Amino acid sequence: MPDRRSIACMDKTPNGIIRDEVRALSAYHVPDSRGLIKLDAMENPYGLPSDLRAEIAALTADASLNRYPDPAAVTLKAKLREALAVPAGMDLLLGNGSDELIQILALAVNRPGAVLMSVEPSFVMFRMVAISTGIAYAGVPLAADFSLDVPRLLAAVREHQPALTFIAYPNNPTGNLFDADAIRALLEASSGLVVVDEAYHAFAGKSFLPELARYSNLLVMRTLSKLGLAGLRLGLIIGRPEWLSELDKLRLPYNVNVLTQRIAVRVLERPDVLEAQAAAIRGERTKLMTALQSVPNVRVFPSDANFILFQVPRADAVFAGIKAQGVLIKKLHGSHPSLNDCLRVTVGTAEENDQFLSALRQSLAQTLSPHR
Ligand code: PMP
Repeated sequence: MPDRRSIACMDKTPNGIIRDEVRALSAYHVPDSRGLIKLDAMENPYGLPSDLRAEIAALTADASLNRYPDPAAVTLKAKLREALAVPAGMDLLLGNGSDELIQILALAVNRPGAVLMSVEPSFVMFRMVAISTGIAYAGVPLAADFSLDVPRLLAAVREHQPALTFIAYPNNPTGNLFDADAIRALLEASSGLVVVDEAYHAFAGKSFLPELARYSNLLVMRTLSKLGLAGLRLGLIIGRPEWLSELDKLRLPYNVNVLTQRIAVRVLERPDVLEAQAAAIRGERTKLMTALQSVPNVRVFPSDANFILFQVPRADAVFAGIKAQGVLIKKLHGSHPSLNDCLRVTVGTAEENDQFLSALRQSLAQTLSPHR
């Protein structure tokens, strides 16, 4: 037992108690978007139609909020299985957004010496979760055109023997869809789990779901966030029951709340609504891409997602100028060396995209004006 004096000397502040790695982290920053056109977070810009909103209001009024949710979310899982055409023999694990599932996966494989791997630049949460759960992290640089650098990736697999590798397909923040054969090579070379994160599937069309039967170390992750239900927080992993039954032990019992379960079931009964919105977003993406390509001083990267990465001179100033005109996009400049001078815009409605384009043109003109 420490004596009273040593207790008095103990550092009872966060410095003395919180893990060093956690204190060194910066919190996931979400900027204040009040009053701004919000094109920073890959949300679907369209609301649900009024008939569906009225049904949701009734479902909400009728929900038993005094009761815990169904911990196994049986009805919702059955609906998702049908809506996503989950292959026979595969199971589902639901999370409070796919962020929670990334955390569950990291916790599950975190043996001493285990490594979590991803590519860079990619979704920042892969690295943040590795740090917060205390698992070692290896980030393999993408090629200059943001494709998978296969020799480098396979060399990293040999060196680190990762227990868990995340590949976003399409990738965020670059927007491109990696070559499927390169991912297959990764699956074959890996002795650990490979999670193909298909958050942007609705805008790309390609999927690794049919490959689940072939690769015993593959899991596919999806989310309803980009489809139009970001506020509900519902992500899922699809895969073999032997994996999911282990991961399920780490899931907190009531992670998907009563309202999310009820509302998601109802919306999934209307697949036409979300599919029409995704189709509209794909159409707007093509228009926005063409328009961006015609803006002088802008370099645009290809996109299979609901956002577009682009590069401008003096990205800091251009970003600030766009924001000053009431449009919030995402500044990636400064987050990774290969994203130098890069900004990312989420595809919005036709009007929002027009407002963004005019704010961009004006901000570029101001920033690059020789009279400044
Ligand atoms: N994966 C990728 C690749 C993402 O870009 C995002 C969100 N930005 C997520 C997962 C997290 O999505 P969710 O809202 O389901 O937590």
